[in-house]
Amino acid sequence: MDAVTRQHYPAGTLYVVATPIGNIADISLRALHVLSLADAIACEDTRNTAQLLGRYGLNKPLIAAHQHNEREAAEKIRTRLQAGERIALVSDAGTPGISDPGARIVDLLSQSGIPVTPLPGASAAISALSASGLLHDHFYFIGFLPVKNSQRETALRSLTQIPATLIFYEAPHRITDTLKTMAEVFGHSRTVVLAREISKLFEEIHRCPLQEALIWVQADAHREKGEYVILVDAAPELAADDTEARRVLGILLEACSVKQAAALAAQLTGMKKNTLYQLALSMREEKEED
Ligand code: SAM
Repeated sequence: MDAVTRQHYPAGTLYVVATPIGNIADISLRALHVLSLADAIACEDTRNTAQLLGRYGLNKPLIAAHQHNEREAAEKIRTRLQAGERIALVSDAGTPGISDPGARIVDLLSQSGIPVTPLPGASAAISALSASGLLHDHFYFIGFLPVKNSQRETALRSLTQIPATLIFYEAPHRITDTLKTMAEVFGHSRTVVLAREISKLFEEIHRCPLQEALIWVQADAHREKGEYVILVDAAPELAADDTEARRVLGILLEACSVKQAAALAAQLTGMKKNTLYQLALSMREEKEED
């Protein structure tokens, strides 16, 4: 606690505080100290935050700062900060501004020259990535996909060749549809990690090829509920020069399905079938768009 209290927490600063994503104990000592110092707490949902603060024995004035009033909330917060208060910003769970309100407030305050300081802590994306075992050095955070099926599919198609682990948030009632579309778009053999209910009682981290993901979810009715992060392994890297693969696939795709073309091209070129499958998928899509 010494390290916490000895640090200076300047007035006139916005403190962006991460809160737990499940287990109530996942909050830092510094975060609790800053919440206790704050003159007010700007939050996504005042009822949720009042409940959370109650669990830590805190009671603070709350400012509603949700998706629909971020600009007005920012003005209100700016006036209070300029009068020398300390304000903390929290969302319902995890890190504010990460698929949550907060980013616009930080933007407006930073543009006014107001200091903003983060209190690091839980975020579902990073927690899931850390336990995924997916090895790529890069990751690409997508967050929530569009709700409409056609838009969701288009969004996924634009990601098939990204050489980075892809991280998605998904609502439980859309998990089966999303996994189905992912298997069609990314190919059945691409590895997926489903991180469910992180830090909660029924936490599960499951890794499998995309073709098995739906079976896993449907094997237990509970799995169609709860919070999910979906991680999709990075696109297999093609050799810098993929001219030969494109030439062979171009011919085969005239007569074969994507799957058959990839299998035959693998025999002809010696390249990996999965890599060729991804390339064939994107070539067919490029052709359909023309
Ligand atoms: N700001 C939060 C963060 O830093 O992770 C994310 C908020 S976003 C509105 C909520 C989504 O995050 C959920 O729909 C789910 O996809 C993911 N999520 C949040 N808590 C989770 C948990 N305990 N386990 C798995 N996913 C979680």
